[in-house]
Amino acid sequence: MADAANFAEQLNLLRQSYRAALPAKLIEIEKTWQGLQTAWNAEALDSLHRQVHNLSGSGAAYGFTRVSEAARPLEILIQSIGEAQSAATAPQQEKFAVLFATLQQAASEPDSVSPDSAPARNAATPDNGVAQANLTKLEVDGAGVQTPAAQMPAVPANDNQTSNALIFLISDDTVLAHELELQVSYFSYRVHTFTQLSDLEGAASETPPAAILVDMLTTGDEPIDMERVAQLKQGILATVPLVFISSHEDISHRLQAVRAGGDAYFTKPLDTGELIDKLDSLTASHTPEPYHILIVEDDSTLARYYTLNLQAAGMIASAITDPLQVLHALSEFRPDLILMDVYMPACNGLELSTVIRQQEDFVSIPIVFLSAETDLSKQMAAMSRGGDDFLTKPIKPAHLVASVASRAHRSRVLRSLMVRDSLTGLFNHTATKEQLDIALARSRRNEAQVTFAMIDIDKFKSVNDTHGHAVGDRVIKSLSRLLQQRLRKTDIVGRYGGEEFAAVLVDTDGPAALSVLEEIRAHFAQIRHQGEAEPFSVTFSCGVATSPPWLEANELADAADKALYEAKRTGRNRIVTSEPLLEVTS
Ligand code: GH3
Ligand code: MG
Ligand code: MG
Ligand code: MG
Repeated sequence: MADAANFAEQLNLLRQSYRAALPAKLIEIEKTWQGLQTAWNAEALDSLHRQVHNLSGSGAAYGFTRVSEAARPLEILIQSIGEAQSAATAPQQEKFAVLFATLQQAASEPDSVSPDSAPARNAATPDNGVAQANLTKLEVDGAGVQTPAAQMPAVPANDNQTSNALIFLISDDTVLAHELELQVSYFSYRVHTFTQLSDLEGAASETPPAAILVDMLTTGDEPIDMERVAQLKQGILATVPLVFISSHEDISHRLQAVRAGGDAYFTKPLDTGELIDKLDSLTASHTPEPYHILIVEDDSTLARYYTLNLQAAGMIASAITDPLQVLHALSEFRPDLILMDVYMPACNGLELSTVIRQQEDFVSIPIVFLSAETDLSKQMAAMSRGGDDFLTKPIKPAHLVASVASRAHRSRVLRSLMVRDSLTGLFNHTATKEQLDIALARSRRNEAQVTFAMIDIDKFKSVNDTHGHAVGDRVIKSLSRLLQQRLRKTDIVGRYGGEEFAAVLVDTDGPAALSVLEEIRAHFAQIRHQGEAEPFSVTFSCGVATSPPWLEANELADAADKALYEAKRTGRNRIVTSEPLLEVTS
């Protein structure tokens, strides 16, 4: 974990190595310049321009503001020589000598005060301001992609994310208690029931639960001691969400609950779906994915510097110093934003952004250019090549972090509108297929298996007909929640159509997928949904196919679809695997 002290230390090391490398860089510039005296050489001039340009862009970042300042007029001079396309004139040579001397002087004068400090973490944290400590050490000296190890977890198959959060219930209504214990258990909650407040109090002081459900009326028509509940909520249970369950709709009971510190209020008959929704939101740990930023910067020290600053702000940053590696990095690292240098050998940032934009998969990734270029018309030209923003080097870390975070945030929001289904929050049809493509490509490289499952709710039309569309929607949501909770975080769950879902189980072979899906099928069938009058249950059918043998997304989806059809045909509420059409359960 790179806390502030660690960040300062790393930055210090970086500065020291920059300082140590500075004399060699100046010698290099001088040598290139001397080589140019004898004959006109476009390539050498280009290289000279880049060397000086890099100094002007990087100096200030390492506490050499004067180096940045001195390199800038030198860069302009070199540009004008380049435009003339002939050897430097005598006045130009003279000017170079003066400017270069100033640069040498500047290199021996580091800034007295540190110009920057670790940027505020919360500036870069998605949505709710909770910082992420997801920092990965990256090396940026080589040319290849440095993907953080955390990006490629070796997830064992079947490590589903059942957390089994503990819920305390106080009630002596054994029917309610039994029903709740059973129903919430399908959604990875565990209910412990108490009949006496004092028992609950004792247990809570030992193991604080994730939430407390309070039945306001006991079966003997004896109201619960609300004052005692209020005291607990002000004391040992201050941080634990409190949910009241009551048979009363009226405002005075609701007020009592609010005054006792209740976070939610439900009336009987209890709608388990709604309760689960509430429990999910009350107990959510709110750990949004940190932004993934890809840095393309040929200067490895500078790349490291940006990486460090973005990491210190809680982002996952990965840098490449060889621009030609960018496509590979994009598909592996899947960044939310690309921070792109403009002047690089082999190809420049403008060409590279055009290459990126020509691929449909990457048209929406924001590209932010980072360059010492201060000429506005050149900046505009860069933007017209597919850039979204232009930041001028040297840039203050806080400014860098804020610009990157706000762009990445906006891109995430837009992207989520494009790829998410509004009812369930799952990937929509198109996005699910995209994710399947990505998973398949990755599995081919890693020689791993991917299992694709298509799930369709049985006789759903009759649910709508009997209980109404709103109740139908809730059933769809409950299946969506169950799939999300029971599958691994790395798996992809999508809403494929109205009452159809798809799941991409990565690194999972057929048998492993079957066992987890079978558990989900059995659980779903046991969930009791609250209808207008009576509770009712619903089942689903599922078709499963694994790659290999199928290699293409379409083949895999077709195979799963056929298996699903077979599951429907042979009686529903079952899972069928494709090839051989093997029936697993009924
Ligand atoms: P089968 O077991 O063969 O799948 O039967 P089914 O009734 O589930 O299949 P069918 O395709 O005939 O009907 C699907 C129904 O799902 C029809 C449609 O009104 C309903 N539906 C689709 N999307 C939604 C939705 O978003 N909300 C609700 N409430 N119903 C939906
Ligand atoms: Mg560069
Ligand atoms: Mg259907
Ligand atoms: Mg159906």
